[in-house]
Amino acid sequence: MRVTPVLTSAAATSALVAGFLVAAPPGSAEESTGEPAARPTAKIPTAVGKGGAVSTVDPEASAAALRVLKKGGNAADAAIAAAATLGVTEPYSAGIGGGGYFVYYNAATGKVATVDGRETAPRNMPTDAFIDPATGKPYNFTPELVTSGVSVGTPGTPATWHRVLKRWGTLTMAQALKPAIKVATRGFVVDETFHQQTLDNQERFEAYRATRKLFLPGGDAPEVGTIFRNPELAATYADLGERGLRAFYRGKLAKLMVDVVRNPRTTQGTDLPVPSGYLSRKDLSTYKVRNQSPTKISYRGYDIYGMAPSSSGGSTVGEALNIMERTDLSAKTPEQVLHTYLEAGALAFADRAKYVGDPRVVDVPLRTLLSDKYAAERACNIDPDKASVKPVAAGDASAYDGVCPAPAARGTVDTDTENISTTNLTVADTWGNVAEYTLTIEQTGGSGMVVPRHGFLLNNELTDFSTVYNEADPNRIQPGKRPRSSMSPTIVLENGKPFLALGSPGGSTIITTVLQMIVNRIDLGMTIEQAIAAPRAAPRNTANVTAEPEFITAYGPVLTDRGHTFVPAGDAFTSASQIGAATAIEFGPGRKLTAVSEPVRRGGGSARVVSPR
Ligand code: GLU
Repeated sequence: MRVTPVLTSAAATSALVAGFLVAAPPGSAEESTGEPAARPTAKIPTAVGKGGAVSTVDPEASAAALRVLKKGGNAADAAIAAAATLGVTEPYSAGIGGGGYFVYYNAATGKVATVDGRETAPRNMPTDAFIDPATGKPYNFTPELVTSGVSVGTPGTPATWHRVLKRWGTLTMAQALKPAIKVATRGFVVDETFHQQTLDNQERFEAYRATRKLFLPGGDAPEVGTIFRNPELAATYADLGERGLRAFYRGKLAKLMVDVVRNPRTTQGTDLPVPSGYLSRKDLSTYKVRNQSPTKISYRGYDIYGMAPSSSGGSTVGEALNIMERTDLSAKTPEQVLHTYLEAGALAFADRAKYVGDPRVVDVPLRTLLSDKYAAERACNIDPDKASVKPVAAGDASAYDGVCPAPAARGTVDTDTENISTTNLTVADTWGNVAEYTLTIEQTGGSGMVVPRHGFLLNNELTDFSTVYNEADPNRIQPGKRPRSSMSPTIVLENGKPFLALGSPGGSTIITTVLQMIVNRIDLGMTIEQAIAAPRAAPRNTANVTAEPEFITAYGPVLTDRGHTFVPAGDAFTSASQIGAATAIEFGPGRKLTAVSEPVRRGGGSARVVSPR
């Protein structure tokens, strides 16, 4: 079936294809040497060619990965070079103060493997850490939990980079960090997104001395078109390269991180309360990434590999696809496909809330959640003509036989406090290896706390725990536990070979963005460019489905007729009217690579290939 996809209005993308160059300020290297812009700023949504490809949200990061690929590095090397560069140019979304999940297809073995580099709760974090000891009442989510030491988890990103390079890479850490050190030293051109994100964070950035100094130079957000340098981060990276993980997880920097989390260095006169946290030197020195088996399901002839818990990405995307597969969609209209997508998403989110947490600490019935028999039972809840009343109830993972059970009672609302920061990147090399990596510091701007003299922000990832403690909740706060994530780096194989790799930021909408792109591509027959640009809806088992205005315009009336209700994106946790900022690469036919990034969302991304067609 082929349908004419609806693209976001602004996704008539040609205006962005040409890219733009921002004049560097007088006296910069470019001007004095007369060289063409040494700082890449061109936004290129799609690149087609061979020999390796990369897609990120940022031209500098994609250029760094491309350079590594051109010099003979592989996808793992290039992914770390890009991630480190994103730590410079997208410091509010990702960096060494945070964590993430890395999925890798190894062409030599034909296997997909993953690294769980999630931040972890300190071993001394009490289960009532989100209760204010002064009042006995829960802290407000904003500002207390968000801008605080109490939500800072032990960072996993430096250890992830180290593990990825050791396991699959050919470069040393020092070599992989070199492009990022260069960008941090010579500076990058401030774009609208960086400028606006700084403004959005101004009040909390002003609350910390080191943050104010770095990100509000002269008391204000850096202007669009100016050059932003971060020599302290360059030095931190250089030290990490030279001395390895002990430069981060032990010694002076570890001591400093512990100190600022426990005694936040706030500015005089700030009104923000900034609760202190629990991070210890032992948490840092004992932090370990996990080599994790990926989730795997098959969907209409494709094998879909995702991130297992502690992320809920792989289990929720996988379960929703399994539920959708119970319906033959080949002859259906786009509305019927989208109806099935909205219902399957809600059912999978109900199970996510009931069953998914850190598997080292709670039992997660992952095998059941991903089984076809369980999906068959869950699919019984879908009426082809009518939307179910949300929230729907979770299934019974302890007793199922694939036969339709009696209709379930209504479910309960799962409070969603995940934020919309984070970044994602996709890399492929000439040998056929593929890296899909989502990394974050949680909130845009993380905890707001820059580590003094080191140029990076600490995460506030522990806000991803449920904020209200409940014994029955798999995502309740527990010491030494990883908060449940939604990050969904995904690799799709066809006959054992890469077909598609994709991922996105967006808090819990990461799951629906990845799911919807797969449905767009496989069920709706869109090209990958169309699949990424198409307007999004995020069925997360809420009373109303959050959707982009373009989605509501295009499909609202027919889906509302079936009983679905929509609210435009832009609620308390999604300040923009856009959902996600995806990247993807499609493979084939032959050796052809199609790298795509967002044409419009978050200002557009940057896709590059080694040998353009
Ligand atoms: N903290 C979120 C998660 O782990 C990601 C936040 C975001 O995408 O903005 O799923």
